[in-house]
Amino acid sequence: MKESTRPRIGVLAIQGDYAAHAEALTESGADPVEVRKPEQLEGLDGLILPGGESTTMLKFLEKHKFFEALKAYCAVHPVFGTCAGAILLAREVHRPVQRSLGVLDAVVERNAYGRQIDSAILHADTTLPGGPIEMVFIRAPRILSTGPSVEVMARRDGFATLVRQGRVMAATFHPELSSDRRVHRAFVEAVRGTPAASEVAWCRNAGRAGTP
Ligand code: GLN
Repeated sequence: MKESTRPRIGVLAIQGDYAAHAEALTESGADPVEVRKPEQLEGLDGLILPGGESTTMLKFLEKHKFFEALKAYCAVHPVFGTCAGAILLAREVHRPVQRSLGVLDAVVERNAYGRQIDSAILHADTTLPGGPIEMVFIRAPRILSTGPSVEVMARRDGFATLVRQGRVMAATFHPELSSDRRVHRAFVEAVRGTPAASEVAWCRNAGRAGTP
């Protein structure tokens, strides 16, 4: 993708705070597209799964036969899940055990911080350049463990809060609710650096035909 081109990034707009993500994407150099139906994934350069209530999102996805299409999309495109979105992306979900898309090699526990401290604004060191980052937690999950290919970019009490595994990113907090745009910019950069799925298919076919 050319430096000057603004990638088109979808925001799953079933429920939750998708509008804040759309605004954050605009401020980070991308054009947001609200996604409510499987066919709206067509041609998007990446996708954000926002925070909200993962069980409600799951019910909607299953009822509208959207789960499988979303899983197929997330298996090959850049995706970023925040809070409930991170729960949806994980390989394994606890409390209670629930279905997920399984594209992030992580085990996640929902609503992991008891009632009194379920919402908090904290600051933590991050591997993103620019110093400590603000993290807004709302009934947040906890990433209990991650696989060897998952890079941890920030933590809370030793547990990962911001992670990256190739073209998949996840945060247990809400970066869209802070004014700092480093997290969204990092995702937009990842989208820019990932060849479009159509190009990948073309290269694969070209390779098979013996053409460089
Ligand atoms: N508690 C929610 C869940 O389990 C996540 C909360 C959020 O996205 N802010 O899905």
